[in-house]
Amino acid sequence: MIRETFPVGLLQCNCTILGDEPSREAIVVDPGYDIPRILTTLAKHQLTVRQIVVTHAHIDHIASALDLQQITGAPILYNAADLPLAAMMDEQAAWIGVETPKVKPPDHSPADSEHVRVRGIDAQVLHTPGHTEGSVCLYLPAESLLLAGDTLFAGSIGRTDLPGGNFNKLIQSIRERLLPLPGATMVIPGHGPATTIGEERLSNPFLV
Ligand SMILES: [Zn+2]
Repeated sequence: MIRETFPVGLLQCNCTILGDEPSREAIVVDPGYDIPRILTTLAKHQLTVRQIVVTHAHIDHIASALDLQQITGAPILYNAADLPLAAMMDEQAAWIGVETPKVKPPDHSPADSEHVRVRGIDAQVLHTPGHTEGSVCLYLPAESLLLAGDTLFAGSIGRTDLPGGNFNKLIQSIRERLLPLPGATMVIPGHGPATTIGEERLSNPFLV
C-alpha cells in the first residue's frame, strides 16, 4: 500500500493518502487544507480518489474536503454526530482567524465498526467520541496502522475544551477502543509525529 502523510494548513493537520498499488484507488483522510499538495501527491502516484474520510468536523481537518470532492467526485464520509460542529464553521474560522470554508453534511455517516473500502484497502471505522462527539479513527489491521485523528497523540491526547469535547468519553474511547489494538500498531495522529499503541500504553502520561 502507498501511504503519504503530510501536514496541511495553519494548524498543521496531518493529511494522509492511502493508495492501492495495483488498482491506483485511494482514500484521502483529513484534507484540511493545501489542495495543491494533495493533488500533486495523488498525481505522483497516479491515484484516483474513491473515498474522502474526515476524522472529525474541526476546521483544520475538513476545510478542503468539499473542494477535493468537487475535483474528484469522491464521497465525503464523516460521523453525523459532528454536524453541529460543521454548522458552526463561521465560529471555528474565527477561532483561528481564517476565511470560513464551505462544508457540507457527509454523503455517508459510517457506523461504528463499519469498513471503508476501496480496491485493495480495507479500513475499519472506530467511533471514538471525546475530542468531538463524532470523532472516528481508521484502523487497517493488514497494515498495522491506525489513523487516530485528534483522539490520541504521541505522548498526549486530544483537547476536550472545545464544544462537543468530553474528557471522560475521550479517555474511555482510548482505553476501550485503541489501547487493546496490537502494540506494534503504528499510530498516525491528527497532528505531530507518529507513535505506536505499545509506546502510548507504556508512557502516555494521560493513560499510564
Ligand atoms: Zn480537532
